[in-house]
Amino acid sequence: MNPFKFSRAQSTPQAISLATAGGRFIAGGTNLIDLMKLYIEKPASLVDIKQLALDKIEVLPNGNVRIGTLVKNSDLAYHPLIMEHFPVLSEAILAGASAQLRNAASTGGNLMQRTRCPYFYDTQFPCNKREPGSGCSAIPGHNRENAILGTSDQCIATHPSDMCVAMAALGATINVQGPKGVRVIPFADFHLLPGQTPHLEHNLRPGEIITSVELQVLPFLAKSHYLKARDRASYQFALASAAVALDIQGGTIRSARIALGGVGTKPWRSIAAEQALIGKPANRATYQAAAQAALKGAKAYKDNGFKIELAKRTLVQALTKLGGAV
Ligand SMILES: Cc1cc2nc3c(=O)[nH]c(=O)nc-3n(C[C@H](O)[C@H](O)[C@H](O)COP(=O)(O)OP(=O)(O)OC[C@H]3O[C@@H](n4cnc5c(N)ncnc54)[C@H](O)[C@@H]3O)c2cc1C
Ligand code: SF4
Repeated sequence: MNPFKFSRAQSTPQAISLATAGGRFIAGGTNLIDLMKLYIEKPASLVDIKQLALDKIEVLPNGNVRIGTLVKNSDLAYHPLIMEHFPVLSEAILAGASAQLRNAASTGGNLMQRTRCPYFYDTQFPCNKREPGSGCSAIPGHNRENAILGTSDQCIATHPSDMCVAMAALGATINVQGPKGVRVIPFADFHLLPGQTPHLEHNLRPGEIITSVELQVLPFLAKSHYLKARDRASYQFALASAAVALDIQGGTIRSARIALGGVGTKPWRSIAAEQALIGKPANRATYQAAAQAALKGAKAYKDNGFKIELAKRTLVQALTKLGGAV
């Protein structure tokens, strides 16, 4: 690990000013420290934000649920408001990592976690995300775990988070604060596609800190579910996952939310799949049509073609569990 300066911010403005001067936030440290030990991240200065009063889950006057950036993944998953109104979020978090990691990991850190592409972690190999312009080792190499949606000729790394897939389906908004004031970023705009600049992964501007994530309470989101397919039953990232919510009245789907994980270069909400469901009977044929729509445009690489069928089946199974199949 390279030497670095360490400071502990006592207030959000102080954290912003330390970050504007070149510091890098650290929350649970479960991703950043690993990357520093491997010389993938080399921040000269770390700003510990754990003292900030950003660790509450609360209902706002407009009825939205606000989740402070420092809320631990485990506290979020087991919070009564989340379990009641957004079971998909609770299930997604509990499908990830391990109990110990979830006890340390923060909401903001989870949003910002970096890919698990094996070549990103191995500094012996070229990687455009780690070193822009050096090349992508995964495209010609081993790419079984890599993405099939949102890829580019520069990078095909998946976004690894389970929590983010649920938040994409729930249509979360992200509150940030920076040197120029506060901003609200819709979830769909927070993570960036790799395009020609895979090292740019999110929409935060220099010095900006995530302060909270906000969720709108809609009755049908209480009927939601997360399903994750992976090589091992625990402590493993998704090969494919689906976050789904359905509003079914009289056997007809009135509203739907669909997002996929393990297959996209960012948490992958599929509006096309949602449109394929709305107004249709809640049955297997409808779910299969939605899966078809969700994976339209998927691009398979040498080792990961199986993910197209796996993602479709994962989505159909999640929808069947939630909506039943006539
Ligand atoms: C062995 C292992 C298995 C795992 N398995 C899974 C899994 O199956 N599914 C899954 O979803 N995740 C998994 N994870 C990832 C885990 O969820 C993340 O490491 C964790 O969520 C990161 O949170 P943190 O608070 O520790 O972030 P940190 O490591 O502290 O920070 C991560 C990044 O976020 C930035 N950051 C933190 N807070 C803020 C903020 N408020 N504003 C702006 N930037 C901020 C930091 O600067 C840093 O760049 C796994 C991790 C490990 C080590
Ligand atoms: S897929 Fe992305 S992260 Fe993986 S080697 Fe290629 S450029 Fe690097």
